[in-house]
Amino acid sequence: MKTSPLINTQESSWAWRPVSTSMVVGPPAPRGKPGEILRDNKVYKCIFCKGTGIRCLGGTQGAKCPVCKGRTKIAVTPPVMMCAFCNGRGEDQPRMALTCSVCKGKGLVHIEEPFEVCPNCHGRGRPIASKLYCSECKGKGVIAIKKGRTFGHPIGTEKKAMKVIYQLGKAGKNAIADRLKISTAYAELVTKSLLKKRLLEKEGGGIFVLTAGGNEYVETRLHSIRINRLDK
Ligand SMILES: [Zn+2]
Ligand SMILES: [Zn+2]
Ligand SMILES: [Zn+2]
Repeated sequence: MKTSPLINTQESSWAWRPVSTSMVVGPPAPRGKPGEILRDNKVYKCIFCKGTGIRCLGGTQGAKCPVCKGRTKIAVTPPVMMCAFCNGRGEDQPRMALTCSVCKGKGLVHIEEPFEVCPNCHGRGRPIASKLYCSECKGKGVIAIKKGRTFGHPIGTEKKAMKVIYQLGKAGKNAIADRLKISTAYAELVTKSLLKKRLLEKEGGGIFVLTAGGNEYVETRLHSIRINRLDK
């Protein structure tokens, strides 16, 4: 097993498949790859103190580890996944005393199944270049899919906005506002709502594309919606 800490995981091309491990007590780190589901353990060695119970910080005398309270082990209800926000390190910032606000220093988070990769942060747990965790997944990088429903239903202008994005392939809020003759502020609200319903996803640079579910919705349900002034 690899023992180096996991390096930053900017790319979103992880393989999201269920994997099981067969350890009695999970090792301190790394525990699974990003996106790997660990089901067999509840108790893991504490990553924050590397299983010693003592947290030494730059030159200072070691103090009792704030995460495991000196017990060297931590418990997280399975299934668990490596914390996307801190890359499983448990630290708010590398080598700092503060614990990660998402996993509380455990480096692991409990997840609900079934889940999907967060469409807002693409599994990173934070918006690009942000110090705060993603508001959509609360930093976990994944969100639970509600039973029997993988995406929400668009209402009113949201349907028209979806059709615009469908026809253009992708669009920003300005293009949507322009086509629908609505304010950009309103277009922004509409895209936010559609993101929540998993009908849209961000492509980056303020550009949105339809998710697979969104595409299907337009193709099967939105034939009757007409959008005026489509120039191309
Ligand atoms: Zn500890
Ligand atoms: Zn964390
Ligand atoms: Zn997220």
